[in-house]
Amino acid sequence: MDKKYKSLLIQELEQELAYASNINKKTIAAKIENIGFSCLMCGKCCRRAFGDNKVLLIPQEIQLIADHTNIGTDEIITPATSDDPKFTDLVDVKGIIHTFGWMLLRKNNGDCNFIEDADVSNKCKIHDVRPMICRTYPFYMQEMELHVSECEGLGHNISPEESLTIAHDVVSRYVAEIEDTIALYKKFEGFTPNPENIEIKSRRTDGDNHVTYAVHDSKGTHKVVKELDESTKFID
Ligand code: SF4
Repeated sequence: MDKKYKSLLIQELEQELAYASNINKKTIAAKIENIGFSCLMCGKCCRRAFGDNKVLLIPQEIQLIADHTNIGTDEIITPATSDDPKFTDLVDVKGIIHTFGWMLLRKNNGDCNFIEDADVSNKCKIHDVRPMICRTYPFYMQEMELHVSECEGLGHNISPEESLTIAHDVVSRYVAEIEDTIALYKKFEGFTPNPENIEIKSRRTDGDNHVTYAVHDSKGTHKVVKELDESTKFID
């Protein structure tokens, strides 16, 4: 990555961070109260059949889940890849796929790995330590504005106190994500992309059975080798 471009990006993010840290939570809470929200426990935000249920998370959140569940990180997360097979990850000249950050593992049916099966309940098995994206759904901040995702719970009455709690969580998430992105850029050293290797069929390395990822996050770069099995969903 070009050094000047990288420092410009970091500069812009640091400016956004300064603004984000001073957001008035009461203003955000008033907007949330006006929109209205109550979680109906429908489980739709966790299940693939109802839309993009990808849960991106930062290293501190992964650690929190690992500490509270005794589950190994390989059973919690996977490299954050796009669902769009064509223009997703970046493949380098060695055939290694570079991704930025992690997402929660999903079951073979695409549902979050931590929601009970649909015929059992919509309970989250890691509710107390669930990632910020789950805690704040359907609200999120982008470019200093409150945004709202599709959700059946919208429009329901919410108290001022609950609105303020969500506002605090939404802003904390915004700040944490900007800080994490800054740290990621500072660590990221770049790689040489292979422009002819973007198609999913050429993502294989180590023979035909494995694919190798370089996952860049705020802690550095991590190599992940995954077996190509049904859940990996690589198409020949
Ligand atoms: S971690 Fe819990 S709340 Fe978040 S998507 Fe998975 S089941 Fe849903």
